[in-house]
Amino acid sequence: MAKYRRLRLLSYLVIAYMLMAFSWWSVLLFTKNKDAFLAKSELLRIGMAAEELYQGEAHFRQTTPFQNLAAKYRRQEWMILGEALVFIITLIIGVWFINRGYKKEMEAAQQRRNFLLSITHELKSPIASIRLILDTFGKRQLRPEQSEKLVNSGLQEAERLHQLVNNLLLSARLETAFQPVFEFIDLPVLLNQVITQMQGKYPGAKIVAQIPSDLPGIQADQDGLISILTNLIENAIKYSEDPAEIYFSCQNQVLDFYFEVADKGIGISDSEKKRIFTQFYRIGNEDTRKTKGTGLGLYIVDQIVKAHRGKIKVQDNSPKGSIFSVQLPWHQ
Ligand code: ADP
Repeated sequence: MAKYRRLRLLSYLVIAYMLMAFSWWSVLLFTKNKDAFLAKSELLRIGMAAEELYQGEAHFRQTTPFQNLAAKYRRQEWMILGEALVFIITLIIGVWFINRGYKKEMEAAQQRRNFLLSITHELKSPIASIRLILDTFGKRQLRPEQSEKLVNSGLQEAERLHQLVNNLLLSARLETAFQPVFEFIDLPVLLNQVITQMQGKYPGAKIVAQIPSDLPGIQADQDGLISILTNLIENAIKYSEDPAEIYFSCQNQVLDFYFEVADKGIGISDSEKKRIFTQFYRIGNEDTRKTKGTGLGLYIVDQIVKAHRGKIKVQDNSPKGSIFSVQLPWHQ
């Protein structure tokens, strides 16, 4: 960060110096141009006076040679002014690019830092839990119900690790060459499956789903579609206060399959709405944030939606929370 700040300061100093130097050169050019004009008109005056070609100052200023000289002088003044303007505009555009690049670099650095912090935490905590569980099994004789509880929580932790690694791999694949495998999907079956699975995973949340039984089938990548749905529903639960209330609804549109995941959670400010789809981006700061995550979920969702030539949108829910809506074409 300090390196970028120094670089930025240095670039500002160079720009300030260039501006001052250029202003000085412009003033000098104006003065020299004027001096040259005065000297030339003086020479002209003397020459014309010798040949008695004018009577009085006013007449001299109306003569054609003087008018030509004055026009040339004015042209040169405009030229200097034009050059100065072009230079200043170029400089302003340059500064704008430097600033934009700097801001992007800072944001990317912050996101990488956030990602490293969150991924370290996300990887370490299930490993520590599994280790503790195995340790307990090794050291103590447990009653069957105690063993069952520990095995279940071990399995949950392993599932968390599995999901995280899957997300990391998927995100890496999306960055290079993600080729969706399109197949015919029975939507009511798949949607009900995902909702039941989510409800089982988050028994404390209330998931209300409206899935018309006459939804036609869609051509889509099955794993991709499941990933879109689980990521959106999990986020809706994660960023809501307990008990979370989630509403899932869908529509059979002429060209697209349209669905919405709405929550009554913390909501997303307008300025963050576009940024949340960037890889590793998480709102707020990793040191103060309470929720777990890597900033990969929505990036993955966005990429998969794009691979299906679909659209994703986020809006405010009323009175609070967010609505994520997705449109996927029926046929590819
Ligand atoms: P993660 O949840 O792992 O942080 P995501 O890419 O899924 O990463 O989401 C990016 C960010 O967008 C989250 O960190 C969160 O701040 C915000 N976000 C996503 N979904 C919601 C939601 N339903 N309500 C409020 N904020 C959300």
